[in-house]
Formats: sequence, structure tokens, C-alpha cells
Amino acid sequence: MATNNKFLFNKKLNLNPSELFTQLTQGNISALSRAITLVESNNPNHTKISNELISYCNSTTSKSLRIGITGVPGVGKSTFIESFGEIMIKENKKLAILAIDPSSQQTGGSILGDKTRMEELGKTPNVFIRPSPSGKTLGGVARSTRESILLCEAAGFDIILIETVGVGQSETEVHSMVDFFLLLMLTGAGDELQGIKRGIMEMADLVVINKADGNNTIKAKSAQKLLQSALHYLPPKASNWHVKTLTCSSLENIGINQIWENCLEYQIQMLKNGYLMQNRNSQNKNWFHQSISQHLQEIILNKPHIKELIELKEKQILNGELSPFLAAEEVSLVFRA
Ligand code: GDP
Repeated sequence: MATNNKFLFNKKLNLNPSELFTQLTQGNISALSRAITLVESNNPNHTKISNELISYCNSTTSKSLRIGITGVPGVGKSTFIESFGEIMIKENKKLAILAIDPSSQQTGGSILGDKTRMEELGKTPNVFIRPSPSGKTLGGVARSTRESILLCEAAGFDIILIETVGVGQSETEVHSMVDFFLLLMLTGAGDELQGIKRGIMEMADLVVINKADGNNTIKAKSAQKLLQSALHYLPPKASNWHVKTLTCSSLENIGINQIWENCLEYQIQMLKNGYLMQNRNSQNKNWFHQSISQHLQEIILNKPHIKELIELKEKQILNGELSPFLAAEEVSLVFRA
């Protein structure tokens, strides 16, 4: 990724935000790649340019649908996205696939980074695939992914798929930036309801049991029934959306159409009842508040006298002289004066 960035910056990075925006709106894919490279960059000059570019994008009205896809590694996410994407392409949709992968910090980008994944889709003209940026914290990846969504929308992509692995906080991050959240699951030997994090089930707008083929078909159907009844115990959604459980085989292309129809039904209903925009607005508001905290934290914690004070309090905590809560209060007293 780093070499790639260097190449883009050296050869043809367009540093004029309004020109770049015009190219984006013309659906120029290389401009889109450059723009995403800018939002991923840690260089303060690039951040200044990307902030201006993003402000243009915010003013564009997009009729996109942002879909988050999660599930444990091996559940079949990339196989699913291949089949799912094919349907969209047949319907003349423009599809952008982005990824949030906190593990990429260690592995250098494990999801979407592997060239063998989504091979067919990658060759299709109306598809744009971008791996998770490497060398960033989850917060950093989340920020650049949010901005990348806006860039893809400005470039005319109407379906934005955000893939994440079912570990850590990445699902919560993805959920906070999409309209529709799809959870892919597998059947186990009677343990369908075990090991599922309730929080993830609560976030899902659709639960799909993948690999419902061959000998696994019957097991998948009974797991579907179990899950569907378990969903009744979850609190109703603010959107009033009725969450379904479906089965599919991504490998054999069975049941994928139904999933697409469910997404479209959601989009129609949520546009009609106003929830789609209401949810995007509340996501923006949360993002604004999170960003303020992040900026303030950076400004405050980087002040030398605060750093010294924190070091002192740490020592006092380790020596048993002070409780962590009291120590934090004493540090914050500096700002209350
Ligand atoms: P990911 O890690 O979640 O992206 O999973 P992959 O898409 O890489 O799939 C993991 C493995 O499961 C691969 O060997 C796939 O061929 C297989 N697989 C994916 N979907 C299906 C399916 O619907 N049926 C069957 N039988 N195998 C599948």
C-alpha cells in the first residue's frame, strides 16, 4: 500500500480539490483512487486538501444504499459479495466495495487485500474495490472509510458495500456508517445460538445463513427457524424494520436474489418513512461529536505539562498512592480552573 501511495503521489496526484471533485463527478476512477489515497494520508497538507474535497462531496445528493456485511472469517463473505455483486451489475448498478479490517495493522491488509478474492467482480467495469488501509488504528480506518463512502457516492456509485471481519469493534464502526447491516452466519452442530454476540444480532437488519447447500441444506433451514424465533426476543428497531433470517449458498448462487430484494425493500420503506435520512443525520451528528472528543484529546494530551502530570499520576497509581479515578479527576482539575 505504501509503495502504491508513493506512486500515486509522485506521478499524478491532483492536488486541486475542486478539479479533483469535477473529475470525480465525471465518474473518473483514477481520480477516485487518488481522492481515497488523499483521505487515507497522514500528511497534514493532504488532509487540508481532502477536507476541502469532502466538503464538496457532502453537498452532493446521493441516492445510494450503504450496506455493511459482517461475519467471522471463513463464513463466505467474499464468495457472497461475488454472487451478490453480480446481481447488482446485471441491474446496471455501480458497486463500490470498501473494507474495514483492524487486523490489517498486523497483517498489512488481510481482507480485500488478497488479489484472489472477488476475482470476477474485480474485472467488471462498474465495480470499484478498495482494500482496508494498512498501518492505521481502527478509528483511523473508520474515518477514512466514512470519507471514502462520500467520495464513491460523488463518483456515481449507487451501492456501497463495506465488508468487515467479525472481530473486535469493527462491526460497531461499520454499523455506524451504513444504512443496512447484513450478518452472515454458518450453521454449527446444534450450536447456532451459541457464541453469537447479542450486540451484533441487535445491529443486524438481515441475518443470512450461508453455505446452505449439499448436506448442509437441512441443517441451515433448521438453524434459520431457530434464529428467526430468537430474533423475536430482541427489542424492536427504531426503523420499525422487521428483521428476517434467510439462507443462501454463495457458491451455488441460491437465495442471493432474495437477499437483494430484502435490501431493496428496506431502501424503499426507509425512504418512505424518512428513517434512511434520519439515520444518516444521526450518524453524522455522532461522528461530529466523536471527532470533537478526538481533536480535544489530541490537543490536550500533547501539551508537555499535561504529559508530565499524567506520568506523575501514573507513578502514584502504581505506588498505590492514588486510585485511577481520583488521579484522572486531579488531571482534569487543571482544565476546570
Ligand atoms: P470469508 O473469509 O468470510 O471472506 O470467506 P470466503 O468467501 O473466503 O470463503 C471461505 C470458504 O468457504 C471458501 O473455501 C469458500 O469456497 C467456501 N464457501 C463460501 N461460500 C460458500 C457456500 O455458499 N457454500 C459452500 N459449500 N462453501 C462456501
